[in-house]
Amino acid sequence: MLQDAYNRKIDYLRISVTDRCNLRCIYCMPEYGISQKAPQEILTFEEIAAIAKLAVNLGINKIKITGGEPLLRRNLPRLFSLLFSISGLQDISLTTNGVLLERFAKELKETGLKKVNISIDTLRQDSFERISRFGNALEQVLKGIEAARSQGFLVKLNAVVLRGINDNEILDFARFAQEKNVTLRFIELMPMAHALKTSQDLFISCAEIKNNLESLGALSPINANLGSGPARYYKVEGTSLIVGFISPISCKFCFDCNRLRLTADGLLMPCLNSKFGLNIKSPLRQNKEKEVLALFKKAVYLK
Ligand code: SAM
Ligand code: SF4
Repeated sequence: MLQDAYNRKIDYLRISVTDRCNLRCIYCMPEYGISQKAPQEILTFEEIAAIAKLAVNLGINKIKITGGEPLLRRNLPRLFSLLFSISGLQDISLTTNGVLLERFAKELKETGLKKVNISIDTLRQDSFERISRFGNALEQVLKGIEAARSQGFLVKLNAVVLRGINDNEILDFARFAQEKNVTLRFIELMPMAHALKTSQDLFISCAEIKNNLESLGALSPINANLGSGPARYYKVEGTSLIVGFISPISCKFCFDCNRLRLTADGLLMPCLNSKFGLNIKSPLRQNKEKEVLALFKKAVYLK
């Protein structure tokens, strides 16, 4: 088992498979994108699976595949097939912006994948263009959500609420999620390095979002284990809707953080905000398994 200096059990690994994205959300990426890494810098699927296998031996039992936009990686379903062949890995999920999901939903389902988180910050065309800087992809995201539902995925929708941009859609999101019979999660905006002032202006707390939602019905906390992450879940009374809140700013959740992150180019990060990235790719490529294992332990120690 991996346990850190604060007695937190670390059993969850988030793996970014690419830095690239087909959107440029204002809160995540600069408009011009980010510099692309050379292909040989990026971990192959076999390398990711090898790291995952070692991590599972150490006590990791949940993996989330993320990005950038993970579905931009060619033949992503193959990675899921590799991961599903690792025994001891209990929970594998995908986070996507949904743009390419319609195309891949069936293939992903066939690998054994059951859980997909889809980010959708607005249901309106003009706001979609403003937030994602791509005007024409909303319809694709909506089709992606439908495709995921029709394949029987357990779907969670993720929305980052931005003051003055999509905060007038909170109730629309709730109605949409209820109609689609999916869980809805609101994520507080985290400050972005490329636009700190804007982040402050756009920030809106989960408490405010929750207040807003209470016009639909009282929100009662539920303890059901609906995920491995930091979301706190509530049921909207009188409806079947479950709403989760991820509050990295107003209600720090570091005390029960259970995860490490692996970047697409093979750095193991103790935390999203950590200055330390441990290069796990080099020892892996030299078949130095013991060093890889030692780096996992070091990353946990540095948390
Ligand atoms: N491209 C995929 C997507 O958008 O779902 C996966 C990667 S994205 C980095 C994962 C999640 O992080 C998304 O739900 C996104 O909204 C969220 N995110 C990105 N930047 C954020 C920020 N500054 N504050 C809060 N959430 C953020
Ligand atoms: Fe970032 Fe995801 Fe938006 Fe791409 S789709 S810019 S990775 S939040």
